[in-house]
Amino acid sequence: MEQNKNISTLKLISSHDEVGNVRTFIFETGGLTWVAGQSLGYTLPQAGEAEAEKQRWFTIASAPSERAIHISTRVSESRFKQALNAMKPGEEIKAYDLGGDFTWKEESDEPVVMVAAGIGVTPFRSILLERHKAEKPLNATLLYFNRTEEVPFQTELQKLSNKHPEFTLRIVIGEHVTADKIIELAPQARKQIFYLSGPKPMVESIGLKLRERGITVKQDRFPGYDEKNY
Ligand SMILES: Cc1cc2nc3c(=O)[nH]c(=O)nc-3n(C[C@H](O)[C@H](O)[C@H](O)COP(=O)(O)OP(=O)(O)OC[C@H]3O[C@@H](n4cnc5c(N)ncnc54)[C@H](O)[C@@H]3O)c2cc1C
Repeated sequence: MEQNKNISTLKLISSHDEVGNVRTFIFETGGLTWVAGQSLGYTLPQAGEAEAEKQRWFTIASAPSERAIHISTRVSESRFKQALNAMKPGEEIKAYDLGGDFTWKEESDEPVVMVAAGIGVTPFRSILLERHKAEKPLNATLLYFNRTEEVPFQTELQKLSNKHPEFTLRIVIGEHVTADKIIELAPQARKQIFYLSGPKPMVESIGLKLRERGITVKQDRFPGYDEKNY
């Protein structure tokens, strides 16, 4: 199957802890170019024989202007995450299937609502930093739900909100994420495009409820996460 996938080999430059069990792995781009918000598939043969063990998808958490590919993830006990975490600088990972439409149209300055649940924040980090670098307005409200006070990229996002009065950052700790809560915090969501990123079951159930209310929703679904570990 893999021979049909446009495969790139990416070399690890470095890795570092963010907060809690979130760690960022920084790779050379291998010549890849991407649009902020897109994702890649990865294979690590040392994680096992089965696809379920050796393959995962990750949003590119870095902005294209950072000229490196970042994976930011919660390091779980899974064989893939343990193998990723054991990588040393200079070692390589195979990446494929670059794509995805969880992107903010380049030409559009229309305000949007972004909802991140925990590590679901990765595409928003990429999108917001890229627009900031390009000196475009950040016409967005980011509702950022996290289980604990350890909020990935909090300082970076707060700096962006300080520099951009048009950007509203709302961090919500330890609350159950529901469509009602989202509408309460961002009543304008009814009229704006709405980006939802986080655990797959959460994104799918909330996305459905919001669509039933006539809201236009874009979704980034992360399998392997739920209410307890996002
Ligand atoms: C388009 C897309 C973009 C994505 N972007 C991101 C991203 O930016 N960041 C990100 O983190 N994820 C992202 N994901 C999800 C990612 O692909 C993984 O599914 C997710 O990170 C969970 O990986 P895991 O190896 O921990 O999962 P799983 O293996 O499914 O593990 C799920 C849970 O089971 C536990 N577990 C698994 N194996 C073991 C074991 N052997 N022993 C004990 N416990 C175990 C883990 O601790 C974990 O809590 C994305 C997915 C898609 C499709």
